[in-house]
Amino acid sequence: MSKVHVRRGDTVMVISGKDKGKTGKVAVVSPTEGKVIVEGVNMVTKHVKPRKQGDQGGIVKAEGAMYASKVMLYCAKCKKPTRISKKANKKGELVRVCTHCGAEL
Ligand SMILES: [Zn+2]
Repeated sequence: MSKVHVRRGDTVMVISGKDKGKTGKVAVVSPTEGKVIVEGVNMVTKHVKPRKQGDQGGIVKAEGAMYASKVMLYCAKCKKPTRISKKANKKGELVRVCTHCGAEL
């Protein structure tokens, strides 16, 4: 089982660090490192070298990986970070729901 409690595509809120309070979608999950990359969060500046002729090098901004423990799943209905529980939906599939309002996440 992976240590990372979020999945790619989840909306999460940052709960600590410089981007505390920001929300974004999980773009990449790295279970081996216990890290995630969240769209628009933890932007870092990278210096890029031109790889081939005609390519422009320079400075680009990109999302940096951050520890998954710094983010919590965000419930759009409660408008706050939440914990999840697992429940079977009408089709009998196991889904993740918000522990506060019961909305499917
Ligand atoms: Zn909720």
